[in-house]
This record gives sequence, structure tokens and C-alpha cells, in this order.
Amino acid sequence: MAHSLNLAEETKKILESLGVSSSRYNNGDLTVVSPINGEIIANVVQSSATQTKETIEKAVKAFQTWRKVPAPRRGEFVRLLGEELRKFKNELGRLVSLEVGKIISEGLGEVQEMIDICDFAVGLSRQLYGLTMGSERSNHRLQEQWHPIGTVGVITAFNFPVAVWSWNSALAFVCGDSIIWKPSEKSPLTALAVQSIIERVIKQFGEASTDLAQLIIGDYTIGDTLVNDPRVDVISATGSTAMGRIVGQNVAKRFGRSILELGGNNAAIVTPSADLELALRAIAFGAIGTAGQRCTTLRRLIVHTSIYDSLISSLKKVYSSIKIGNPLEDGVLVGPLIDEKSFNNMENALKAAKKIGGVVYGGGRYIDEALQNAFYVHPALVEMPSQIGPMIEETFAPILYVIKYDNFDEAIALQNNVPQGLSSAIFTTDMREADHFLSALGSDCGIANVNMGSSGAEIGGAFGGEKQTGGGRESGSDAWKAYMRRQTNAINYGYEMPLAQGVKFDIQAH
Ligand code: NAD
Repeated sequence: MAHSLNLAEETKKILESLGVSSSRYNNGDLTVVSPINGEIIANVVQSSATQTKETIEKAVKAFQTWRKVPAPRRGEFVRLLGEELRKFKNELGRLVSLEVGKIISEGLGEVQEMIDICDFAVGLSRQLYGLTMGSERSNHRLQEQWHPIGTVGVITAFNFPVAVWSWNSALAFVCGDSIIWKPSEKSPLTALAVQSIIERVIKQFGEASTDLAQLIIGDYTIGDTLVNDPRVDVISATGSTAMGRIVGQNVAKRFGRSILELGGNNAAIVTPSADLELALRAIAFGAIGTAGQRCTTLRRLIVHTSIYDSLISSLKKVYSSIKIGNPLEDGVLVGPLIDEKSFNNMENALKAAKKIGGVVYGGGRYIDEALQNAFYVHPALVEMPSQIGPMIEETFAPILYVIKYDNFDEAIALQNNVPQGLSSAIFTTDMREADHFLSALGSDCGIANVNMGSSGAEIGGAFGGEKQTGGGRESGSDAWKAYMRRQTNAINYGYEMPLAQGVKFDIQAH
């Protein structure tokens, strides 16, 4: 029964089983509340600005030795990390659910994503390729090499409390970099758990400094210390656009490199030829899954007039039957919002939408007697007269705005006409429409999918988005290049000194 929930006790047991010392989470000044029932589950010790500076110093030193380890050996290190994550998948997955309120299968899925990126990075460790180019000069060779860049600061959001660290770290480790992680102040426990795992792996591997992967805990102020320190070569920051606007400028001021993974406002176009049953399943997962708290959550649905009524009526049926509640229970598909602020943001967005003619179905607080101190909501569907007001913003909650279109170009324009550019989707069986959507004239997002939703990306592709989503790419494909520095080499193996572009510069050598 939900009444007998003792989440603090369960959290403690999991942290113990993962080897986290209780001194890290018993008497600290950062209170961690489970969004499942509002219970205080830990009090975590925060890092000071001085400690953060010391951490950076240690990370710089750790880099200096790590870069000497051959890349395939660094891959072996990441392979061991993947093995350890496999062993503790259940514990860590459940901790994700306890700390941020994801349903169990999504908590486990997040750890699976960590394992997958480790596997990817192991292969990558033998594939950090540079190119060779034909030189315009005789007896010359032109090539490029990729070298480790230094220390990478990883700032993460609450909604993927562990996976985002691994997207960055698994790549950065094989690239030869050291890592400092600043997790969200809302999810320090999962970070402590991952830190304990990586520390064990460092020991087992034996060829890396214990400072190769470090953790600092606290709010934006220590994030700010990390961001402004010129010894941190790359800042990879995941979170809201408001955060990225500040972080991006601060890193640029010191000519650092940033990878920004920010807010999305993702849309799907549903065309007359769409397989509506398939679309319905994808739309439901995209809009309602993770209680609307994914950066790739489906927030806008652009539906052709001819199928609008039938799709809306099917969606309403899904929305009224979806099981909301304790995410630890079987069958529940919608867990809580992270906190009261999120709930208020959702309420305010719905109010604003109504004011400008939006018709709201669902929404409002979902009350469960046993979970009264938490913020559960009914997902909302909002039929909009046009794409204005809250529809062009990201509200991090399960609100799906729906709008009609008549011709395809109009649908594409609606899809693109928002400040964010993360993910997008089209449901169609018309190959011309599908390919137009994927073409240079189609979706302007970093991710564009056909006959699947906007969320649930695989690690094999590069992940990220354009415009106010920040332009960064993480995870698969060649995203690894952001964690290395490129060096172009010209080598003269002849006896002459020809200059490029035919320039003559004859001096008297004797
Ligand atoms: P947030 O912006 O409130 O916080 C994210 C992180 O940034 C936290 O660790 C926070 O402490 C830190 N931070 C905030 N201000 C900072 C500053 N000035 N300097 C340094 N660090 C600072 O985001 P959130 O509420 O935790 O997460 C939700 C947001 O994250 C949504 O907008 C979502 O779309 C976005 N997100 C994006 C992606 C992506 O890959 N594009 C992935 C997950 C989440």
C-alpha cells in the first residue's frame, strides 16, 4: 500500500548497496525531497567555492597523466564502467525513480542508456580518426590529428540525472579528458551513486588518477564557479535556455568551448495519410511520458484538418484512461512533476492559453490520498486557435497544444516557427512529404523523425538541437570531436621549401 511508503529508508538502503558513504548524505545542508510523496529522503553535503577550485586543480593534474594512456586502454576503462553499471542497473534505476519520480521502466531505461553509451565509447576508443589530405606542395603531407583537450565540466539537469553525465563522460574519458560533474541540485543522490561506481572503476583499472572523475554538489553558484574558470576547457551544460544563455556567454567571454543542450518545444505533424493508430501510440508516449519532463517531450501537434476531429477524439480517450500515480507501482504511466514550481508553471501556462482562446482538456492537480505532499497532474490537451502565447515557450510539464493545418507548407512553417529547435516528427505514409520534411526545406531541428515521436532518442546518433536549444551535440556519431582538440599537421619530407599558393620568398641563405 502506498500509505506504508518509507522512501527515506529505501533510498538509504540503495545508497548503501551502491557504496555511498552516509557522511555524504546524512547531515548536509542540501535537502533532497522525493517528488513521489514529498518525503525528505536525504540531506546532502554541498561543495564550497574553495572546494570547487581545488577540484578543478586536481582535475587538471589528472588530465596530464590520463592523456598519456593510449586511447584503447582508456576504452578498457569505459568498458569496466559499463560492466559495473550492468551489475547495479536495478539499484541505480530505482534510485532515479525515487529521486526524480520517473516510472520504473524509465528509470531502468536511463541506466540502460548509460550502458549503451559505454559500449559505443569502447568501440570509439579505436576510432578517433583524423584525415589525411593531398598537399598542394610536392613531397609534403597534410594531416589532422585529434588530441585530448583537457578538463570537461559537465552541468546536468534534473530530468536525466544520470544518463547525461554518461553521454559526456564516456566520450570524454576515451578522448583522454578529465571530468568534473555538477549535477542538478534536485538530483544529487543519483550523482553520488554514480560517483561511487566510477571511483570503484578507477581503483579496479589502476592506471588512472582518483581525480579523473570528480563531483561537486550545489546549486547554480558552484556551477558558475566552474563555468568561469579558464582551467576548465569545455563546459557541457544541459538545462533550460535561460541557464544556457548565461553559461554560453560566460564561457565565450574566456574563449572556452561550450556544448549547450537546452530547452525544446517539439512538434509532430500528422498528415492525412498517417497511420493513425501508430501515431496515437507515439504521440501518447511523447506527450505524456516522463510526465512531460523530457527535453524532447512532444509539446505541439500540428494536425491536418481532415483527420483533426478523429485524432482529437482518440487522444481524449487515451488521456482519460492513462494511469497517474506512484511511479514505483506497476501500470502507472504518469508520475509526479518534480516540484511545486513546475506545477505552478503548468497552471499558469494553461491559464494563459485559455485567455487567448485555447480549449483545455484535462490538466489540474491529480490527488492521491497517500501522496498528498507531491505534485501529480492530469496531462492536458489544449486546442489552440493559432500558435501564440505559451505555445511558443517550453513549459516543462505534460501540456500538448494542438493546432490545425490545411496545406503542407503551412504545417512545416508552424513546426519551425518557434525559438527552439530540438526535436520534430512527421506521421505520414506519403514518401514525398516524409522526404520534404527531412530536406533542407523541412524541419529546422537537430532531430527529425518519421513515423515515430519526438522523444526516446538512441545513443548512436548525435543528440542536440538548433536555435535556442543551443547548437550542441552529444552522444553518438562524431559528437566526440567536441571533447578533443584538432591539430592540422603539414610535413615536408623533401629537400625544397616550396610555399603554399605559389608564394615566392627567396632569401640569400649564405
Ligand atoms: P535548469 O536550467 O534549472 O538547471 C540545469 C543545471 O544548470 C542545474 O545543474 C543548475 O544548477 C545549473 N545552472 C543553472 N544556472 C546556472 C548558471 N548560471 N551557471 C551554471 N550552472 C547553472 O534546468 P532543469 O530544470 O534542471 O532541467 C530542465 C530543463 O533542461 C528543460 O528546459 C529541458 O528542456 C532541459 N534539458 C535539455 C536537454 C537537452 O539535451 N537539450 C536534456 C535534458 C533537459
